[in-house]
Amino acid sequence: MGRLTSKQYILAALARHGFFFKKRLGQNFLIDGNIASMIVDAALVNGHSNAIEIGAGAGALSELLAEKLEKLILVEIDPFVVKMLVEEFQTYPNVSIVHGDFLKLDMVNVMRGMSESYAAVSNLPYYISTPILSKLAFAENPPERIVATMQKEVADRIAAKVGSKQYGAFSILLGNLYEAEVLFAISPNCFFPAPKVESTALALNRRPKPLAGDISKDELSKLVHGCFGMRRKTLANNLSASYSISKELASNILQKADISPSERAEKLEINDFARLHEAMRSELM
Ligand code: SAM
Repeated sequence: MGRLTSKQYILAALARHGFFFKKRLGQNFLIDGNIASMIVDAALVNGHSNAIEIGAGAGALSELLAEKLEKLILVEIDPFVVKMLVEEFQTYPNVSIVHGDFLKLDMVNVMRGMSESYAAVSNLPYYISTPILSKLAFAENPPERIVATMQKEVADRIAAKVGSKQYGAFSILLGNLYEAEVLFAISPNCFFPAPKVESTALALNRRPKPLAGDISKDELSKLVHGCFGMRRKTLANNLSASYSISKELASNILQKADISPSERAEKLEINDFARLHEAMRSELM
């Protein structure tokens, strides 16, 4: 194929199905074949033969994926786009199309019959990039590799290094489970309509084990968000406020974990949070 990155072709095909652009759904379709190939190659670099694509749109990535994979699931929310996808992929027995809001789908159900080891690919709709990535990462059956394009600032936050301005709760919670790698920048002109923001392609590789050990997602999230509560405040102040404990007790717990009470949360690595969690558990329970 290769035609689903042709602006003329996709506009005509979409129009036949009554499609009109919906800004609220983040519909910026990729119209650059080279970028589409680079994203798909990056997604399948570990040899996965099963994948899910979230927000398939007019199929720029889907058509390349369909040629290479044994099983491909396409998820798309817009019924007019789904009609076009059904027509374009009718000759592909390896492709299943799911019409729905990805954020509301039951991942276990959707992935039934797929290999446990699979990749996820997406030109993410900008307005819900973070919720989609969270849903994938924290799923019961998470993908081993995720390659996604997103607004540059979101990718920078995910891949941020400890101590930097961008480093925050999401870098830590995702970094606990996945190793992030910034792949390449994508200019707005590669999409139609061109978005107002720069995009970045990012790869996330599932770690064999979470860096913070066996702390539950909810506990780690509570601790990390609690520590970042007010960015400019010290850890002792933030912990005291978020766990309703005295500043003195918060300072003792931090010292027990070998962390200075006057430090700021952005200076903590994931293993610091793991030690802090242990100290909290032994002092507060
Ligand atoms: N993959 C296509 C491409 O590369 O050209 C389309 C990417 S476009 C940035 C995002 C797509 O996600 C749109 O087709 C939009 O309709 C779809 N979408 C938006 N919100 C969605 C949701 N909650 N669940 C599934 N698809 C969604």
